[in-house]
Amino acid sequence: MINAIARKILVTIRPVSSLQARTPVVYPPAPLYSGSVSNLTAILERAAGDGLVVALTGAGISAESGIPTFRGEEGYWTVDSKVYRPQEMATNTAYRRMPEDVWQWYLYRRAVCREAAPNLAHAALVELDQLLGERFRLITQNVDGLHLRAGSPMERTYQIHGNIDYMRCGNDCTNELWPLPSDLQVPEDHLAAKEYRLSEADLALLRCPECGARSRPHVLWFDESYDEPLFRFESSLEAAAHAVVVIIVGTSAATTLPNHVVNLAARAGAGIIDINIDTNPFAEIADQLPTGIALRGAAGEHVPSVVKQLSEIVAG
Ligand code: NAD
Ligand code: ZN
Repeated sequence: MINAIARKILVTIRPVSSLQARTPVVYPPAPLYSGSVSNLTAILERAAGDGLVVALTGAGISAESGIPTFRGEEGYWTVDSKVYRPQEMATNTAYRRMPEDVWQWYLYRRAVCREAAPNLAHAALVELDQLLGERFRLITQNVDGLHLRAGSPMERTYQIHGNIDYMRCGNDCTNELWPLPSDLQVPEDHLAAKEYRLSEADLALLRCPECGARSRPHVLWFDESYDEPLFRFESSLEAAAHAVVVIIVGTSAATTLPNHVVNLAARAGAGIIDINIDTNPFAEIADQLPTGIALRGAAGEHVPSVVKQLSEIVAG
């Protein structure tokens, strides 16, 4: 089944409309269920049996940590008085045309990520990993590294869009990743980082240690393709094909690999739980399945609750 899907697919994103402010974080009141609670229990009983449980996360899980999603003006970036949207900055085309500006934007976004701490939802997914061990996989679109900082293990965490804390060769001389140099002079405060302009010393540090070419952020850009060595493409599809339950958290279904993961799993009969403050295409899929449920509300509320219920079922 996996072979039927093209090995490489472009990352696509739909235009998004509603605004998402960075602060304050808005917690919706009581959780709303668009399916029945007994359905959730049935799905979790399935997760407590054999087979793989997959969590698929998007920017929404980190929103309560203070990292904006791509829905508002927060991500806009001005170069020579022209305003760029994230979907324009996060491209190979922009990097080829204005590499220093793209690096500056990433180092600002990295400062936002470094100021943030993992929240209750990240912590609950660590608990889930500890509960299920080899029966669990976490597929994340987030580049903020918060899952790893919360304690999710690298070997079961597929960062399918990369990690903003790492760089790699801009000329693809190797697939090796390097942590961003600690000597960079970029301020830690994200507002100061936004104003900061990279020095010659910074630029000299942002070079491939192997061949000396300009390095690039280790992030999958919107005009680039997924692959296995850097972005765990096949591993993600493999996990989806074997999943008995997929728990989707805070994603708008705008990128291609997550769509393949959910559709593959749903076609194979997996239970689908979609957690989101808003409706989205994955919630619609969950609603249509006999083994699906859409939980409308914040990740920080629903993910710990789902993990707690599953732990109780597993404990018997
Ligand atoms: P998105 O911005 O397109 O959608 C975010 C989703 O999260 C929306 O459906 C929204 O309703 C939901 N949401 C917002 N707050 C929530 C909360 N508290 N609880 C539950 N759900 C909540 O994000 P995406 O689907 O991940 O895709 C956008 C792309 O942007 C991805 O490629 C991703 O790599 C990148 N991105 C990453 C980060 C990050 O690393 N934190 C941040 C912004 C964008
Ligand atoms: Zn190189």
